[in-house]
Amino acid sequence: MIRIEQYESIVGKVLIEELFLLAGKLEGRSIQNINSTAVGGGVAEILNRMIPLLKQLGVSASWDVIRGDEKFFEITKKFHNGLHGVEVEISQEEYEHFLHVNEENADDMEFSDIVFVHDPQPVALIDHRKTNGRKWVWRCHIDFSRPDPRIWNFMQKYVTQYDSAVFSAPAFARTLPIPQVLISPSIDPLSDKNKELPDPVIEQTFERFGIDRSRPVITQISRFDYLKDPVGVIRAYRKAKNHVDIQLVLAGGGATDDPEGPMVMEKVQAEAANDKDIHILLLPPSSDIEINALQRGSTIILQKSLREGFGLTVAEALWKGKPTIAGAVGGIPLQITHKHSGILTYSVEGTAQWIKQLINEPEYARKLGENGREHIKNNYLITRHIRDYLLLFTSLMYEGDLVYLG
Ligand code: UDP
Repeated sequence: MIRIEQYESIVGKVLIEELFLLAGKLEGRSIQNINSTAVGGGVAEILNRMIPLLKQLGVSASWDVIRGDEKFFEITKKFHNGLHGVEVEISQEEYEHFLHVNEENADDMEFSDIVFVHDPQPVALIDHRKTNGRKWVWRCHIDFSRPDPRIWNFMQKYVTQYDSAVFSAPAFARTLPIPQVLISPSIDPLSDKNKELPDPVIEQTFERFGIDRSRPVITQISRFDYLKDPVGVIRAYRKAKNHVDIQLVLAGGGATDDPEGPMVMEKVQAEAANDKDIHILLLPPSSDIEINALQRGSTIILQKSLREGFGLTVAEALWKGKPTIAGAVGGIPLQITHKHSGILTYSVEGTAQWIKQLINEPEYARKLGENGREHIKNNYLITRHIRDYLLLFTSLMYEGDLVYLG
């Protein structure tokens, strides 16, 4: 188990002391996180790392996952796509099913002093707020800048009942009658996904997957989701391959709250059409070391998303000092300043062009990676994220009071 003090060598002693100080202000209060999946996707990734660290700081933190049937997750995936601005149809009966599943979950749950609800799937739990005096916060991880207005109208009825809402970036937020707080997500530099790895582990991983490290490797790690554009990645690889001898790795698994994975995988396999230099790797849950090794051993990392929340995979790649080419959507431009800490692209053609250029200019590519790592270190590590949450929880608990932090 990682000890919180181990982060001192990366972020400094002062920040860790500040975390203990803030955590002390929450003594006797309990904080409950609620989301819709324990594995797969960025939210589960963050909660898996954050809850043990909060506990080490002395915070009474817990994490509950709501239950739902297949139909519920098909509906919430439509919500997700619609809120990202993709056109979807949701019937009255589906809205009712969504509310019914939220109600069933609420009936089975005990709520804590601060209830921290992540994303749209459990948003309607608030309708079943049991006692007064508790604080409810809605944590939105997705980009809300262009939502389908019909879904947003529905969601709004629930979101506005919360005491406050947290968004990842200013551009994601909506005009709301409740206080809004901006807190960006983070990665854990000491997790299996991100820690330093010995070279032999990287070598063995590539060998095990049959990937040749003597030629450049371009990799995208993602759930198989249309919005991550895996088919666009293959098309960009093909265009670039007319000029440079590259291989492509598309690696990822699913999430229990995402039913679209197998369909997307079929399309990806059809597009790849038995090209021996395309490696499609279906990863089981807890493939953290494999993902870490694939990211570290690759020449370039892609994240060609068409829509994105924050895009943790970009932070993971940059933290490893990797030249990264990513779609200019969602939280990705917060992480990449074009031509300084990575490359932002808008099309298959642009992505192909930049793959070719970075392969041909390794020194420039190396510099992009180095700047990217520095940016992640300064802004997107888990210690900063915990501090922001502790400040938020403290402000909710002591609303109107002056809190002495010295
Ligand atoms: N991830 C994983 N296994 C997979 C695919 C993704 O562990 O098969 C991780 C990935 O490394 C990252 C997170 O899941 O930490 C995905 O977060 P991101 O914000 O990039 O996208 P989301 O899936 O939340 O849309």
